[in-house]
Amino acid sequence: MSYPILIEQSNQILRELVDAGQPVLGYIYPHIPHEIVMAHGLTPSLVRTNPTTVGAYEDSLQTFSCSLTRNLFSQRVNGSFPLLAGIVFSSNTCDALQNVADVWRLRFPEDNVIRLTYPVGDSGNPAVQYLALEIKAFSDALESLTGVAFQKDAFIEAASIVGGIRRGLQLLYSARLVNPSLIPYDTLSELVGEFMTAPTKTVLTRIEKKWAEVLDGLKKEKQDGVVEKTRTALLSQDMGGINLTSDSAVRIAFIGGMVEPTTIADLINNVPGMKSNTVVLDVLTFGFRTVFTPPVETEGDPFEGAARSILGAPSEPTQEGLSKRVKLLKDVLTHLSIGGLVVCEQSFCDPDEFEAPSTERAAAEVGVPIVRLPIDPELSDRARLEGRLQTFLETLDAS
Ligand code: SF4
Repeated sequence: MSYPILIEQSNQILRELVDAGQPVLGYIYPHIPHEIVMAHGLTPSLVRTNPTTVGAYEDSLQTFSCSLTRNLFSQRVNGSFPLLAGIVFSSNTCDALQNVADVWRLRFPEDNVIRLTYPVGDSGNPAVQYLALEIKAFSDALESLTGVAFQKDAFIEAASIVGGIRRGLQLLYSARLVNPSLIPYDTLSELVGEFMTAPTKTVLTRIEKKWAEVLDGLKKEKQDGVVEKTRTALLSQDMGGINLTSDSAVRIAFIGGMVEPTTIADLINNVPGMKSNTVVLDVLTFGFRTVFTPPVETEGDPFEGAARSILGAPSEPTQEGLSKRVKLLKDVLTHLSIGGLVVCEQSFCDPDEFEAPSTERAAAEVGVPIVRLPIDPELSDRARLEGRLQTFLETLDAS
């Protein structure tokens, strides 16, 4: 599915939910407590950039706003934004989101803008306690918005749905690493996109069905055990017991921030030399980093459970913890037999720009060639991006 079709399909699903009287809460930064949102009777849905909307200069926005926030703001200005009960902006992640939220609130006072503040540091239990308090305040804001108090039953059901979706996607990510012929990258990215649009039982069923098909293929090849081990290793961020080998010429991974896997699947479609089994992994904020979030514990304090889950996900370039990310990246490259790395950098995104040199150095230290890919939501430079990828593949093939 191409990215514009995903947008159309996602808008259609949102329209159907809203028409059916289901309130939708939009989010931009994907590490939100889905289960808490659903416990207030809301459906959490990623607010997507739209490649047909030009994120042009907007004099309400500061010059440092990134291309992603510009695109979203332009959609809101030109009236093409989806109908939402409210929209969540993260604090303490990056300057762009911090400030665009203020501008948004002033410019569109009729919108319900809700903030969720994240701890920047990776300080274990104090960070969990801090985020738990923030999530509790967020839950109170949702109650004011909807008039629906936190419902424990709905929270437990949401934990089961979201946990099931994540588990299924983790297995599919791992299956693609072990045997990419069994699950095309565009199918995987499409399922991730559906999760982000609306984590519903329908999406869970689709993912479980796809996993059952893939599992059949894995069993025939006697690869089901290694897929489960790979999933466990990725989830615990300890790759020690895994050593995948490859018989294909080139296996590459994409890494970066707020880029959707569907955008990558769409972009690589026309690149000469890109085979169906070439891209075996993404380490994107809207992909791997959100999917490999551990499940929420439903016993005990739900806000603490949600905080622990969010902070258990692979860390983001917006957080402290660079050395941990570098170690994980080196382990992923070496233990999963990755032969080339594409580093996506969202235009004017400070976290991406600060992280890229360390990513480049880490890959060089384990002998994996990289290419840096400046990218914006409109793929305005598409031909050049395709050319860069083609050249990169040729370089890898020749080495
Ligand atoms: S793309 Fe970068 S600057 Fe823009 S919202 Fe995301 S992290 Fe912030």
